[in-house]
Amino acid sequence: MSLINDVCTLQEIDDEVAGLEAAIADIDVRLAHSETLAAAEAAFAEADARYQDLRRAQRALEADVAALDAKIAPEEKRLYDGSVRNPKELTAIQHELELLKAQRSQLEDRLLAVMEEFEAADAARRAAEAALAAARREREQEVAALESRRRQLTSSLEASVARRSEQAARIHPASLRLYDEIRRRRGSAVARIQGGTCSRCRVAIPESVRRKAFDPATLAQCPNCERILFIG
Ligand SMILES: [Zn+2]
Repeated sequence: MSLINDVCTLQEIDDEVAGLEAAIADIDVRLAHSETLAAAEAAFAEADARYQDLRRAQRALEADVAALDAKIAPEEKRLYDGSVRNPKELTAIQHELELLKAQRSQLEDRLLAVMEEFEAADAARRAAEAALAAARREREQEVAALESRRRQLTSSLEASVARRSEQAARIHPASLRLYDEIRRRRGSAVARIQGGTCSRCRVAIPESVRRKAFDPATLAQCPNCERILFIG
C-alpha cells in the first residue's frame, strides 16, 4: 500500500476515534444532569413550600380561634350564671363578648379561605410528587440505557485506539509527525485534489504538486492549507 493510502486510513481511524470520544463526552454530559428531572424536582419543591406555608398559616389561625374561644367561654358563663347582677357590668360583659365574637368571626372567615387554599395546595403537591416519582423512574431507565451505550462506545473506542497504533506503526515517523501536526492544527490532515483544487480550502493545486501526489513514496501538501493531498 502506498504511503498516502496508509495516511488516509490513519485519518479514517482518527475520525472514528474522535467521533467515539465525542459520543462518550455527550453521554457523560447527559449522565451528569437531567433537565427534565431537575424541572420536576424544582416543581415539587415549590409545591411543597406552598403546602407547608399554608399548613402553618392554618394552624396559626386555628390556635388564634381557640384562644378567642378560651376568652369567650368564661365571659359567657359570667353573663348567664347569675354571678354578676350589676346591669352596667353585665352590659360591659355583653359588649366585650360582641367584640370577641366579631374578632372570632373574622378569623374564622380567614381560616376558611386558608383551608380552601390548603386543599388546592395539597392536591398540587400530590400531583407534583407523582410527577417527580415518574421523572425519577424515567431517569433511572435513561441512565441505564446511557450507561449501556457508554460501555459499547468505550469498547469500540479501545478497539479503534488499538487499530490506530497499528496503523501509525506502518507510517514513517517523519510522515507521521507531519500528519499529526497538521491534524492538530487543522482538525483534518488529508485533502483530496478535486478538479485541480484542494477539496478542503478550494485553492488551485500547481501541476508540480499534483505530480508529487502521484508518487507513492512521498507526501504532497496543499500550498495553502498544508494538508496532505491525495488523488481520488
Ligand atoms: Zn488546501
